[in-house]
Amino acid sequence: MTALQAEPRLGSALQVRGAHKSYGSVPVLQGIDLDVPHGQVVAVIGPSGSGKSTLLRTINGLERLDEGWVSVGGELIGVRREGDRLRELTERALLRQRARIGFVFQSFNLFPHLTVLDNVVEAPVSAQRRKRAEVEPEALELLAQVGLADRAGAYPRQLSGGQQQRVAIARALALRPELILFDEPTSALDPELVSEVLAVIAGLARSGTTLVIVTHEIAFARETADVVVFLDEGRVVEQGPPACVLDDPQHPRTREFLSKVL
Ligand code: ADP
Ligand code: MG
Repeated sequence: MTALQAEPRLGSALQVRGAHKSYGSVPVLQGIDLDVPHGQVVAVIGPSGSGKSTLLRTINGLERLDEGWVSVGGELIGVRREGDRLRELTERALLRQRARIGFVFQSFNLFPHLTVLDNVVEAPVSAQRRKRAEVEPEALELLAQVGLADRAGAYPRQLSGGQQQRVAIARALALRPELILFDEPTSALDPELVSEVLAVIAGLARSGTTLVIVTHEIAFARETADVVVFLDEGRVVEQGPPACVLDDPQHPRTREFLSKVL
């Protein structure tokens, strides 16, 4: 049990406070603080192994923090209060919370044996116990939003990587999430398929969805993000508007990283 060091703020889309996580003796997150207001887009950049994926995984409760807390919409994730201490939630309560947070992985992770439509319909029906008849028209609308209305009956193997990733985005949206996390959503794609996926994400950003995106697409981050966070060795080294962090970085480690990826 860890202590509640400060009050989660109601109305904040995402807060991370004092997040620490180690794997064995290897510290991976070393005191992360993050505040994301509703409708903001945060791009997280940083070298391989700096803790970016671990940060996303702790935000949606896939991994537990050793210290600190995460709150989404003012509600603590994975824990509940007991006085000024935090106690772990049951697996079931955690699953319910995780349904409020969309997660799009590098590797799509679609169900191969389900059609595109069924991939999108599955989670709201199984995790949120909504009726298929109600979810299906929404799913078709979401597929139209990502430009795949005509592929609803196809199976994932019949689609390109870019199309599969757009299905994965529609699937995340089907849960009506308060927040969507993207972990390098275009890293596994052939170069010519990257822009179609980034265009869909940019559309979400414009629509006011709160997004946290781990990406190496620096030009995309510059255009789309409200805030860029540079992570190194499990710490936020620098954060701020793209024009500051990407074009006028203050920290030598940020400069060094950008000189390698730009
Ligand atoms: P990034 O996404 O920035 O590349 P990760 O969050 O994946 O970084 O990993 C950060 C560090 O934590 C790496 O050194 C990685 O080897 C280690 N790590 C990540 N997941 C695990 C795990 N499940 N068990 C042990 N070590 C892990
Ligand atoms: Mg990663």
